[in-house]
Amino acid sequence: MIRCPRCFDALRPVPLEQGAVYSCTHCSGVFAPAEECTDLLGPLVDVDTWRGTDWATFGRQSRLKSPKTGQLMEHVEISWEGKTVELDLCPQTGGMWFDAGEMKTVSEITRSLAQEQDGDFTDVQTKFGARSYLLQLFMNLPIELCNPVRKKPIVTHMLIALCCVAFLWQLSVDNIEASTRTFALVPEAAQGKQIWGLVTYMFMHGGWAHIFGNMFMLYVFGDNIEDVLGRKTFLMFYLACGVAGAILQVAFQTGTLMVVGASGAIAGVMGAYLVLFPKVKVRMVFFFIPLFLKVRYYLIFWIALNFFGLMGDDGSVALLCHIGGFLCGLALALPYRNYDIQNQLQA
Ligand SMILES: [Zn+2]
Repeated sequence: MIRCPRCFDALRPVPLEQGAVYSCTHCSGVFAPAEECTDLLGPLVDVDTWRGTDWATFGRQSRLKSPKTGQLMEHVEISWEGKTVELDLCPQTGGMWFDAGEMKTVSEITRSLAQEQDGDFTDVQTKFGARSYLLQLFMNLPIELCNPVRKKPIVTHMLIALCCVAFLWQLSVDNIEASTRTFALVPEAAQGKQIWGLVTYMFMHGGWAHIFGNMFMLYVFGDNIEDVLGRKTFLMFYLACGVAGAILQVAFQTGTLMVVGASGAIAGVMGAYLVLFPKVKVRMVFFFIPLFLKVRYYLIFWIALNFFGLMGDDGSVALLCHIGGFLCGLALALPYRNYDIQNQLQA
């Protein structure tokens, strides 16, 4: 049995996908073995890469004893941009003790560090080659600099696969227009006709550029939202945003065109991203110039364009659908703003 170094209560094992961490129900502290630190908090939380950096200080002895070995632990102070956290490291095993709230601070610090110091976390940095430059130049799409996830984003990948399969189906049928209409969001949905279109429209697309742009955005932003919400909740969240966009669209649209595309649901993912990761840096290519900016400027610009578009709306882009999805995602993500993995481990 391993005991809390602060209150000496028995620690409760919390199983992860691989291994387990040990949580104290009394003081909310968590002991995480070395590998579990990375599994739980992401690839940036790796003590070995912290050594020798100017923002991590090792070596002062802690008063606390390692739950694993019973030996005194070592303080590790990490400090960056006014945030400081002092962790306790078990020098023999590499395990770490986190007091309540410390996991949150650690992941905030490492995430912001990764964006500032390009060299330190080279293995998790996205490599920007000529190909991604050309892609961004023509598609006008953002790429995240660094926002690694803890778990494989299975639902995000599944949704992308589903859209691709549905698109191949669209390409394979004889009358693409009529067949697509069966699953599209049609204006008559406002009168209760073809209600399933409120859900199925988000798996249909109107062409190669349409599906590519949408899937790219889902790939870039979806994984992080799935990581915070968890798989099942993320799936429900995604569908809810798509439906919210669809409802706003059919309620107020003036056009008679059918609407297809994952944009409404993905707008929801972008809304959630604005709430949860406003400071993550992205790279854009704008008039041949690579720009690095905080994602919140991109997202606010994007939604503002949709609002302005409403004034001269020709009905070719489902702007209301984007706006409905975005606002839904934004609202649903608000309760997760103070998300702390450590709280979740107590439940
Ligand atoms: Zn305790």
